[in-house]
Amino acid sequence: MGFVNWSTLLKKQKKEIKLKKMFDENWALLEATKIASESPCQSKRGVIIWHREHGIVSGGYNNQPLGFTCDGSEKCRCNCAKTAVHAEQAALIKAISVEKNFSLSECEMLHVKSVEGEAVFSEKPRCWQCSKLILEAGLDKMWLYLESGLKSYSVEDFHRITLENNNLL
Ligand SMILES: [Zn+2]
Ligand SMILES: [Zn+2]
Repeated sequence: MGFVNWSTLLKKQKKEIKLKKMFDENWALLEATKIASESPCQSKRGVIIWHREHGIVSGGYNNQPLGFTCDGSEKCRCNCAKTAVHAEQAALIKAISVEKNFSLSECEMLHVKSVEGEAVFSEKPRCWQCSKLILEAGLDKMWLYLESGLKSYSVEDFHRITLENNNLL
């Protein structure tokens, strides 16, 4: 009683600091790439919503809604762009239903496209169906994996850029 093992305590603290550092955008990119590869569609997209201290809140990939399926055949290319739930939407729906002791305004989202399990660069943001939901959900930041590296946007800027890219602003 009263004996404190400082070395164990120090090790524990170091481990905690290391764990906290892990939840950065590079970690998020790896997680989102793994999630993307679960999509049955020809074009595979993955999204992670995470908190810098607590890690993953939710993940999502593009897929048909509950009760509907995609077999990744030629039909997928024509239909799923219109009828699938987007990765961002799937992740947001999950994030809202997860019980947590922090708000989504402390969370960030990262979207990535994957080909054969590898992250590939995103084109410029075009999906206004998702960008308006991301803004409305009140997330802190949106991340994309671009040729120049990982880039973050405020959710407001992300929606504005998306609208501009569609000539909707
Ligand atoms: Zn599909
Ligand atoms: Zn979308």
